[in-house]
Amino acid sequence: MTGFAIACPIDSGTSGIADHYRATIRETGVPVVQVCNVCISALWPARLRCHCGADDLAWQPAGRNGRIVSRVSVDVPKEEWERFGVSKKMTSRLPYTTVIVEPHNWPGVRMVMLLETSGAAESLTGEVSLGVEIDGTSVVLTAGEV
Ligand SMILES: [Zn+2]
Repeated sequence: MTGFAIACPIDSGTSGIADHYRATIRETGVPVVQVCNVCISALWPARLRCHCGADDLAWQPAGRNGRIVSRVSVDVPKEEWERFGVSKKMTSRLPYTTVIVEPHNWPGVRMVMLLETSGAAESLTGEVSLGVEIDGTSVVLTAGEV
């Protein structure tokens, strides 16, 4: 699924938007960004009203590619990491690298993604492809090799 705009149910509140965000990703299979239909600004993180005052908001595709803005590599003993309440799924991935990515289609938006690479995480800099990993109700944004 490429170009689309799926209305955000702002009357469901912030938790409703969060649920709808994950449902939209599961349905479309791509990372999405909240966009104001009036001033066409990207709103990230998502909210109930645009800075222009409009509440006509929609999910749109984040796009296929972006650039890494920042990264954090996590490599700690699993038992230590579990004490912080991190999910078993993420704990089982140790070590992993989380990156902040700016999608090319939405300058200024910064999305947290799990870096996926076949080689050393340090070897992947700059350009990445944007993806999602869907497992039941769990949704993880992923950044991969271009
Ligand atoms: Zn707006």
